[in-house]
Amino acid sequence: MFAPVYFDNNATTPLDKRVLEAMLPYLSDQAGFGNPSSRHDYGRRARQAIDEARQQVAAAAGADPTEVVFTSGGTEANNLFIKGVAAGIKPGALPLHLAISAIEHPCVREPARELARQGWQLHEIAVDNFGRVDEDDYAQALARKPRLISVMLANNETGTLQDISKLAQQALAAGSWFHTDAVQALGKLEMNFRELNAAGLHAMSISAHKISGPKGAGALLLDKRVDIRPLIAGGGHERGLRSGTENVAAIVGFGRACELLRTRLAQGTAELLALREQLEHGLLQLGAIIFALGAERLPNTVYFALPDIDGETLVGKLDRAGYAVASGAACSSANPEPSHVLRAMGVAAELARGAVRISLGSANSAAQVADFLSVLGDTVFKLRRMTALAG
Ligand code: PLP
Repeated sequence: MFAPVYFDNNATTPLDKRVLEAMLPYLSDQAGFGNPSSRHDYGRRARQAIDEARQQVAAAAGADPTEVVFTSGGTEANNLFIKGVAAGIKPGALPLHLAISAIEHPCVREPARELARQGWQLHEIAVDNFGRVDEDDYAQALARKPRLISVMLANNETGTLQDISKLAQQALAAGSWFHTDAVQALGKLEMNFRELNAAGLHAMSISAHKISGPKGAGALLLDKRVDIRPLIAGGGHERGLRSGTENVAAIVGFGRACELLRTRLAQGTAELLALREQLEHGLLQLGAIIFALGAERLPNTVYFALPDIDGETLVGKLDRAGYAVASGAACSSANPEPSHVLRAMGVAAELARGAVRISLGSANSAAQVADFLSVLGDTVFKLRRMTALAG
């Protein structure tokens, strides 16, 4: 079977074989199929498996197992925090304020905008040219004493990192509940919920399928002092915060994927950085503009545009040439609008329409990057010639 080279690891990652092996007993008629709430041996085994996964997830993120609320993924974890905290706040003195950064993933932005439609005052915090939260605008947001704040740890498009510890500390005086979407950070850099919690962070979202785990599992790591209401009410699973019979196999897979991170992080970062450097060097030689170059970024992410080349067209040509890359964020590829992240960074709409993201993974090699650069060079040459002929 023809298998294109996979350069889209921020969209999702291939399932690790060891994760699949851990999941299989809970997907078959072996002893793991029970309902974790049942009071018999089948149920107990499923419950034990979830407990173990909770410990594995907590250990990977530096949290306590009792702070892990399993969800169906990052989207639900983000929605749970924003809508759940809002639901727990008594209106009191109006208007209520909330603040998010202008570069959040749609699964933070949309629930925040939903609250705005219900009467909340939403401050979308500006970012600089590198995609980092603008200090002055953040200070203005804090002056309004927002009840909740959400700023992502690592951006899915550019890979830009925020100094969450500092931002959370600054938010302490405002008395806000502070959340970070760490879906793209987990597994790509060292991070620790406990340390960030000590600085002033209250909640963090993570997702299994970005770390070689299964789709459909994630978690909100949550400081127990936060007053939060569930999105899904029912039998009271997950400390009453997320009812519904647990997706045992996916949760087990999430736990195993978290356990495997320990070795992966130590070995992987230097290799990814070397590949990223090779890729960026080649791209710059082709005349590419690399977004957020020079900012502290995820080691695997390169987001670029070639002037006068449309991003969607390039992604299509590369797909046919055997390379899986993304134009803008994968979730919004159907949306022809240029990336809101790049627009917030002050990138002109025309250049932003050329954006292509490469997100490397542990399966990629220097030879793949070298071949890719040569194919890209040919493709760009042909596209430019076509444009010149048409003009
Ligand atoms: N947050 C970020 C930054 C993401 O990149 C994604 C997925 O692309 C999500 C949240 C959503 O996570 P999930 O796919 O687990 O719902």
